[in-house]
Amino acid sequence: MPHTRHDQPTTGTRPCIADTHCKGYDRLERRPAWTATTHPYCDPCIAAATRDIRMLACDWYDLAQQQYPTLSQAPSTSSAHRQRPEPPIPLREGPDALQREIHHAVTTWEAVVREHARLSTPADLARHGPAVQRAVGILAPRVRLLAQLPATTVYPTGCEDQPTDMTGADAIDHLCRLRARARSMLGWTHRRRWVPGDCWACDGRDADDLDGPLYRSEPRYEPGTWDGVLTSRVHCDRCGQDRPEADYDEYLVTLRWPGQPDEQDTQPTEPTTATP
Ligand SMILES: [Zn+2]
Ligand SMILES: [Zn+2]
Repeated sequence: MPHTRHDQPTTGTRPCIADTHCKGYDRLERRPAWTATTHPYCDPCIAAATRDIRMLACDWYDLAQQQYPTLSQAPSTSSAHRQRPEPPIPLREGPDALQREIHHAVTTWEAVVREHARLSTPADLARHGPAVQRAVGILAPRVRLLAQLPATTVYPTGCEDQPTDMTGADAIDHLCRLRARARSMLGWTHRRRWVPGDCWACDGRDADDLDGPLYRSEPRYEPGTWDGVLTSRVHCDRCGQDRPEADYDEYLVTLRWPGQPDEQDTQPTEPTTATP
């Protein structure tokens, strides 16, 4: 089937809606990837959006630490009175405002997706952190479904907005932009941040009295790049081991480190899983 450079390869396809931001963009032919007419985004864009949406849960916690910079380094009682003045950090938008928008957006689209996927509608969670995590857990595996949803009337960024019609594809665009804004805000103030969770290798636990144990190091956000975050790692400051961030993503969703039973532990710990 011969086709010139801008012809569609088969009927029933269309260019990816992400256009020049398409993750499958063909630089030689200067066009976004083809996708089925029923799917606004191509597969690489769906994969990237899934990752971005999943990471919004981490961003929410990271932004919380920006508001309370001593959260992860809470002084022990003996040093509680030590004064350590922090210079104010100039922010283009407050981390709390961005946190609220993330919470609003993910829970708004969680409700829409639950309705279309015929999932139960649980009670609202009062605390925003768990609410964001639950919403992301619903949205991330269903980005393809979300992308296909017709226009719905929502308050896009918060309750003070005008009601606006947004398609699922618009929602994905908004959620990915939230991720970029969070990375932008976090990237130029912190390079190593505490993240919730327990170490996979040692007995470092989130709930114990010490700082950490897990930290995420992230390259600075560079406008126009999409994949810088792929090189970042999560490491434990107790035992010094580190793992790819993709492992941490999986841990956040399943609460189990990938390949956990096979990890060679550096010190004996109680078996936490029993997998044949
Ligand atoms: Zn695309
Ligand atoms: Zn460790």
